[in-house]
This record gives sequence, structure tokens and C-alpha cells, in this order.
Amino acid sequence: MATPEIAVVGAGIVGLSVAFALRERGVAVRVLDPGTPGNAQSGGASRIFRHAHDDPRMVAAARASRLLWREWGDRLGIETVSGDGAVAIGDAVPRRLAVLRDDGGVPARALDPGELAALLPALAAYEGPAMIDEAGGSIRTEAAVAALVAALGDAVVADEVLAVRPRDDGRVEVVAGGGRRTYAGAVVCAGRGTAPLARAVGVEPPVALAAHIRMTFPVRGPAPDRLPCLQDSSGAFGETGVYAAALPGNGLYGLGIAETVAAGADGALADAAGLEALAARTCAYVARALPGLDPEPTGARACWVTELPWGPDGVAVWPAGGALFLAGHNLFKQAPGLGVALADMATGATPSLDLRPAARLGAAAG
Ligand SMILES: Cc1cc2nc3c(=O)[nH]c(=O)nc-3n(C[C@H](O)[C@H](O)[C@H](O)COP(=O)(O)OP(=O)(O)OC[C@H]3O[C@@H](n4cnc5c(N)ncnc54)[C@H](O)[C@@H]3O)c2cc1C
Repeated sequence: MATPEIAVVGAGIVGLSVAFALRERGVAVRVLDPGTPGNAQSGGASRIFRHAHDDPRMVAAARASRLLWREWGDRLGIETVSGDGAVAIGDAVPRRLAVLRDDGGVPARALDPGELAALLPALAAYEGPAMIDEAGGSIRTEAAVAALVAALGDAVVADEVLAVRPRDDGRVEVVAGGGRRTYAGAVVCAGRGTAPLARAVGVEPPVALAAHIRMTFPVRGPAPDRLPCLQDSSGAFGETGVYAAALPGNGLYGLGIAETVAAGADGALADAAGLEALAARTCAYVARALPGLDPEPTGARACWVTELPWGPDGVAVWPAGGALFLAGHNLFKQAPGLGVALADMATGATPSLDLRPAARLGAAAG
């Protein structure tokens, strides 16, 4: 067997997408991860796919990824994103709609209260600004991860990377539990494991590590044919950063409040009880805002969040010789496009996304 040329560290959705994109262009690849692929930040059964972002470059990136999700889904024989759309309510709507209108490539429009109630009958009465992105929807996270892992076959190896060492000749030595090996390049997409590996070679992605909790609530009555995703920044129901996405089958809604409990660089939580408080607020929000759901959750998933300072959608790559270190948050929807851009960078091609930290891709408004 040919020696793999590129090592991908981490088998979350981003690492799997990088490896798949490298394979597409005939580059031999090895993906190293000590855990179950897709079980860290990429874990859980749904994510929101939305085009709406403050940064117009992210809207264009989301459009490119949406096309790739469709294309990869067709080739892998799975649905990758539901056709249910993504609804947003709150004061951010006019600003986000303006960015989408300028882009011109996204079927998004404002909703009046009657249209909103018809689209999302589970929601309590709401009269403020609302919109739908018809090309958004629920990402079929587990199907996507499973299909990419199957497509990559024995290129995915159960092993933990202890160090990534760029060499003077441009190659990269990867020290893993199962042995040390030299590759033409390495792409590190290790989620919360990226910053420690980067720091060891003098690179400092300014990642703020925090913990978050997301819960699953049953839909009352029969599962609806259509259950759009929801982002609520309105405050009308007592919270301003709520997101939700249906699980496959539309009988369950995965929902969280986009607040976190800070952690030190070593992962020590400042206030572990803060997660319980967040869980209680999440249930109370559902009781107020979503009478169409049972506010008794059927599940909860605690997870790490790795945000960059310029915004919750921020993403960038820090190079060190032949090694690339990716950091950011809210990356699931963008994974196919990031995979292609990182495959470009790893093979010396010009990437379609400007992922230099100075570009501050995904910057928040204002
Ligand atoms: C609750 C929640 C809700 C979210 N909602 C959305 C959403 O609606 N839409 C959206 O687009 N995004 C959303 N996100 C963000 C998105 O899920 C993540 O940005 C994305 O899954 C990150 O993928 P990743 O591959 O970079 O990281 P991960 O999935 O964390 O994968 C990293 C992998 O690296 C491995 N690893 C770590 N250290 C090492 C090492 N030393 N050696 C080898 N392997 C290592 C880990 O085991 C892991 O499998 C949400 C995230 C959370 C937590």
C-alpha cells in the first residue's frame, strides 16, 4: 500500500470532510482519532444548516457548502440536509435578510405572523421580525459522519496524536500512540485538541474553550411532515440566543441556548453547576415558547465549544511549516467547503476560502 501523504488529525465532521476532499483528488490520506468518529463536538443527531450570517463571505461559503452537501449526499446515497428550511425570529432578522439579499443566491424571505404560525405551529404566538431560509434545514449529522467514515474505509485509524512536528524539509512528523510517521503534510482538525497540539509548535490559536448543553424535546402529537430549524434572538420568550433543529423523523427537536460555561485552557470548568442552570433555563424556555413540544427532555448532550474572538461563526487556519491547524465554531454546516479549502491548502493549491487569521472569516456584526 502507498504511504499516506497527508495525515488528518481528528475524525470529526471537519477532519472527515478534509480527508474525503483529499481522496477525491487522488491524495492518499490517513485520519487519526482515538475516539469514535463524530462523537466529540460533531456528536448528536442534528445541526442547523443556515445561510444567514453577519459576514457576507460566510453566506457565500455556506452556499458553496450547501451545493457540496447535496453532491456528497447524492454520491454517498444519503440525505445530508432536510428540505424543511431554517426560520429565524428577532431583531437580527432585518440585518441578516439584507446580507442575504445582497448575496442574491439564497431563497430567503420575511414571514408575517400568519405565515410563521403555519410553518412552525409548535411556536407560541409571535408578532416580531421573522424570516425563512428555504434552502436551510436540519443537517443529518449521524448519517453524514457514518457515510464519510464508510467511504474512507481503513484510512480512518484509531490512534491518538501526541505531537505534530513540522520539519525543515517541509514534511511533517506525526507522533501517535501507535508510532511515529512522516507525511508530506498534516491537517489538524482536532476540535478542542487542536490548540494544545498547535501550542507545542509555537502557534497560538486564540480559542476560548467553554462547555454547553443541548437538549432533546418530543413534539406533542404526530410528527409533522415539515419541522424547520429555529433561531430565536427575539427575547420575546425570555432568551435571546436559542437555536433548534429537528432530529430525523421530526418527532424530536434538539434545542439549546447559545450560552456557555467558561473553561480554562486545560478544560477545567469555572462553574460546573452552570450547566445545570443552563439546562433548567432551556426547559423553561421550551415551556414558554414552544407549546407544541413536551418540555420534559428525552435527552441532553453536554459538549465543548471552541470560539475565536471575532465571533461565534469565526474560523481560521494557523500554518506551521507543512502543518495546518484549524480552529473555530459552528462549523458543521461549513464542513464540506472547509474540507475542500483545507485540501487545497494541504496540496499547495489556492484555497477558495481566505482562512488566514487576519481575514477574520465569520466576523460578527459591529
Ligand atoms: C451543542 C452544539 C450545537 C451546535 N450547533 C451547530 C449548528 O446548528 N450548526 C453548525 O453548523 N454547527 C453547530 N455546532 C458546531 C459544530 O458542531 C462544530 O463546530 C463541529 O462539529 C466541529 O467539528 P470538528 O470536526 O472541528 O471537531 P470535533 O467534532 O470535535 O472533532 C475533533 C476530533 O478530533 C479528535 N481529537 C482530539 N484530539 C486528538 C488527538 N490528539 N489526536 C487525534 N484525534 C484527536 C477528537 O476525538 C474528535 O473526534 C454546534 C456545536 C455544539 C457543541
